[in-house]
Amino acid sequence: MFWQSWFNVDPHHVLRSLVYDIWPNIAASAILGTAIFWRLYKKDKCASCWRPGVHRVEGTHYRTCHKHSNSVDHKKLREQHRRKYPVEHKLLNGGKRGCN
Ligand SMILES: [Zn+2]
Repeated sequence: MFWQSWFNVDPHHVLRSLVYDIWPNIAASAILGTAIFWRLYKKDKCASCWRPGVHRVEGTHYRTCHKHSNSVDHKKLREQHRRKYPVEHKLLNGGKRGCN
């Protein structure tokens, strides 16, 4: 074929390289990047919605965004944390009972 003589490139080699060398690297990088992003996002996201959490909820490991950083939402989250993780809640609140 004419491109073989002009560019000294074997189209089968290019196709094989695309299929076996380039796309698996792109796919692996995308999967790894997504996994790292998702892990970091889940760790620091708001406990009530999808936004990044910037305010800590006292006595829990939760964070809230600017929309949910009010006393009503924080009280609900503390109550939810007390029900969901009783041992951790007790530990985070100094072992006092009824502290929410
Ligand atoms: Zn939120």
